[in-house]
Amino acid sequence: MALTEDTYDVVIVGAGFAGMCALQRVRSQGMTCRVFEAGDDVGGTWYWNRYPGARCDVEGRFYCYSFDDRISHDWTWSERYPAQPEIYDYARYVADEFDLRKDITFGTRVVGARFDEDTDSWTLRTDGGADARARFLLLAVGCLSTSNVPELPGIAGFAGRTFHSGQWPREPVDFAGRSVAVIGTGSSGVQLVPQLAEQAERLYVLQRTPSFSVPARNRKLGDTEQIGTNPTVRAERYQAPQTRTGIVYHGLDPRNVVDVSAGDREEQLRWAWTEGGAGFMQAFGDIGRNEESNGYVADFVRDRIREYVIDPAVAERLCPTDYPIGAKRICVDTGYYETYNRDNVELVDLRAEPIRGFTPDGITVGERTLDVDDVVFATGYDAMTGSLTRMGIEGRDGLRLADAWAAGPATHLGLGVAGFPNMLVIAGPGSPSVLVNMIVAIEQHVAWIGDLLEYMRASGATRFEVTAQAQDSWVRHVNEVAAGSLLTRAASWYVGANIPGKPRIFMPYAGGLPAYTQRIADEVAAGYPGLVFDGVPGAVVATGAERT
Ligand code: NAP
Repeated sequence: MALTEDTYDVVIVGAGFAGMCALQRVRSQGMTCRVFEAGDDVGGTWYWNRYPGARCDVEGRFYCYSFDDRISHDWTWSERYPAQPEIYDYARYVADEFDLRKDITFGTRVVGARFDEDTDSWTLRTDGGADARARFLLLAVGCLSTSNVPELPGIAGFAGRTFHSGQWPREPVDFAGRSVAVIGTGSSGVQLVPQLAEQAERLYVLQRTPSFSVPARNRKLGDTEQIGTNPTVRAERYQAPQTRTGIVYHGLDPRNVVDVSAGDREEQLRWAWTEGGAGFMQAFGDIGRNEESNGYVADFVRDRIREYVIDPAVAERLCPTDYPIGAKRICVDTGYYETYNRDNVELVDLRAEPIRGFTPDGITVGERTLDVDDVVFATGYDAMTGSLTRMGIEGRDGLRLADAWAAGPATHLGLGVAGFPNMLVIAGPGSPSVLVNMIVAIEQHVAWIGDLLEYMRASGATRFEVTAQAQDSWVRHVNEVAAGSLLTRAASWYVGANIPGKPRIFMPYAGGLPAYTQRIADEVAAGYPGLVFDGVPGAVVATGAERT
């Protein structure tokens, strides 16, 4: 039974970058709002991911809000790719500037949400007893927020310390003089490994699948390279939403790899490698689409790995060979491959020596046991759907989101879900989200949602719902677009392959921001044909056709 049940226009789940942006927007529309956040502060991903080396792989000048000049112009990034503490500080700065915390309940997890058809509102249950009712439910829980810790035999009996990259302790962790195992070599592992190698006496890196990683070429930024001081930098931030990835890159060659000479190909790839960062994947126009082109680029990176890593056998084990480059999210590193030249680091190839289980003092791989004091899980997340399906959301007729998405997530435009009226997901499955600059994706969704709520206020509607037809059509389109790329060709978290039993569906929208922006703008311009308002199809309202 609820201790309290307060009523709001909007409840938002999550106070990361999406939740903060949404709170500011709905407030500016004069609506009452409450945010529930499991952490003790704002920041979301950047609150939880405090592991050594945690750093954004989008340049800071693009990784900041644009909806208000103050919070982009007055902020200074100290490095090209800001580290976690600085991004967390930025989130706190934004919260202070807009006095956001007064509408956020921290340390509180939403454990149930039920749609009430009689009142067209959602009732939220939290683990803190502070329950709430709201007309609209906005889900701003992040795409990578439910940690995946594999169930490995004997783990409960392990006597040492264990960590997950996404649930890092708030106090610093000392690895000096210790024997440490890192499990996982995705973006988090690739960032952790060089840092842990510096600290630990012995580091084992347990690799199941090697990653392609591009050097970040991180550097300090000067005062004249900031949004507030440099008109070009500022203009590019505002131009970012018009680009495919929400980031302005320079020096890209729009031609196809297969259409250029070997010399031009090498020159362009060397240039992009020297520039560093994820922009490497945009060096030519067709790296993500054409298998042959992709193969040339993958060969180029494998050659760099062989240059960086002195022991040829280790270099070969670090070379990905069984998926196209970019089909798993490209990693961006500082000194990752070079770390394997250190005497205190050993790469353990789990394909040759699978994990058999934990002992109290270590991990048994193949025929040997590694003595370890600490295990760091860099094993990723139940991505895109994990946090949503675990929240106990029940829509119309008691339909559980976990059941509705049992065969994989289905949305209309990545924003709404059939059977779940007055509920919207920010940067969720079916939207560009993780394939583009998240801040741009978030701001775009928040603006669209704000406009929808204003449209409903103006028209007096109290309920919207996505039609099954619109949802089916969008899901088909998302799948078609993904099938036209190489993105479906790896066992990645994009397709849910990292979680045992999860349906294999390509979850984000791979068509790029311009196509997506046009599509969601068309939806508004046509009077929301994919939605029904108070039982009346949006298209009928828009055309003035007679209501039936
Ligand atoms: P991830 O990409 O899913 O990588 C997880 C790693 O753990 C993979 O190497 C995976 O191997 C391995 N693994 C999982 N279960 C395992 C098991 N049972 N036994 C052995 N190995 C196992 O997770 P992540 O590195 O945390 O990155 C997730 C996403 O977060 C990234 O793709 C990126 O979008 C974001 N991220 C971004 C940054 C940044 O901005 N720089 C940093 C960190 C994370 P398999 O590949 O074989 O499954």
